[in-house]
Amino acid sequence: MGRPPATVTADLVYLDGRFERGRVLALDASGRITDVASGSDAELNLHGCAIIPGFVNGHSHAFQRALRGRTASRPADRAAHFWTWRDEMYRLVQSLTPDSIYEISLLAFREMAAAGFTTVGEFHYLHRDSTGRPYDDQNLLARRVVDAACEAGLRIVLINVFYERGGMRGEALSPAQRRFSSGIAEEFVARSVDLAKAYAEDDRVTVGLAAHSLRAVSPESIRLMLDLIGDELRPFHIHLSEQLIEVEESEAVYGARPVELMHELGALDSRTTGVHCTHITDLEVELLARSGATVCACPTTEADLGDGFLRGEELRAAGVRVSLGSDSQARIDPFEEMRTVEYHERLRHRRRNVLVAPSSGTGGEGEAAAENLAVSGELLAMGARSGAESLRVEAGELGPGRWADLVAVDLEHPVLAGWTDDTLGSSLALSADPRVVSATYVAGRLVASLADQAS
Ligand SMILES: [Zn+2]
Repeated sequence: MGRPPATVTADLVYLDGRFERGRVLALDASGRITDVASGSDAELNLHGCAIIPGFVNGHSHAFQRALRGRTASRPADRAAHFWTWRDEMYRLVQSLTPDSIYEISLLAFREMAAAGFTTVGEFHYLHRDSTGRPYDDQNLLARRVVDAACEAGLRIVLINVFYERGGMRGEALSPAQRRFSSGIAEEFVARSVDLAKAYAEDDRVTVGLAAHSLRAVSPESIRLMLDLIGDELRPFHIHLSEQLIEVEESEAVYGARPVELMHELGALDSRTTGVHCTHITDLEVELLARSGATVCACPTTEADLGDGFLRGEELRAAGVRVSLGSDSQARIDPFEEMRTVEYHERLRHRRRNVLVAPSSGTGGEGEAAAENLAVSGELLAMGARSGAESLRVEAGELGPGRWADLVAVDLEHPVLAGWTDDTLGSSLALSADPRVVSATYVAGRLVASLADQAS
């Protein structure tokens, strides 16, 4: 990797929830921001562009990129739903090799970089070969995925996923699930520590842990994993309350809903991220809020799979941090995730501008500008800062101590025509798409640009 530029500027820089002019970011040799100063001269001057923090993809399964366009049929004798999609995903899993996993992951990660993502939280649950035998190096598939992210230039948090059973009643793994088997918890955690150590010298790679879901991991194993997690393994993620059947099973088997059970296990705190949480009660919203946990919403996937709606307004009002992820890769577009999470709220409540604090005041032009900033501030924070906090990476905002993970937005793109300093954020959050991304930088280094896509 080359040295990043010592200073970076653009026509506008997004700082503390608003665009500012005449600001220069100073970077150290590792690509961290050391200072934000006034000025207009810089080693890298992105004329005609605005700089925003790179988007953080809070939840991804890179290999599922290979399913795109291949899950759109409907069985003759029943409805298509999450579980029929899962059967198709399992068929794909059977066909994957270490090399094809690398190639598909690289394709997905390059698409992410071009779309403006700078960090991916990769929820990795492929561990064994297609017969269910462990590879000699049991971290082989995780390493191939990390290598693909490095090749694409992305920052990656490899969230290594524990998976031990076929269902909440202790069912054995089905033949299709044997590739996910992660062995016993102690050894799995030790392997994850080894993986973290193997990349300790690479600033762009960190390792976290996950329990796949309450279906695939017993409460005892979740508690054991939490006891075993050391400082080198952060954060802790879990698929939670994605499907109603899962909630009903949890109530039947444990006498508690999924978020309630996580609370009872002492498994909810500020390092925990519950992915989806589409079926939660007021009490569960409150438990999440009190714990400081994050909810990672994946609105385009939740729509694609028919999961249900996030309770976005309730979570926001309770102060729960919400991050965003591309999950199944039906779409890889941070702009669409931001827009869809808000649009789902509008459709659910038949109102507008839902995921934003109500403005005080009496109206007028100044207030309209403030409201625009508020809407864009909430959605852009979900797209970048919340994901960084959930994944425990120092990114998601432009300021001293953060990585210079940046997106250069092309201010001359027709999609943004008519922008002002006050409306640009809302145009990006609600009306833009990856075509406005002219370049993406991780730790100050160029990883994707429009010029690459044209060549
Ligand atoms: Zn997922």
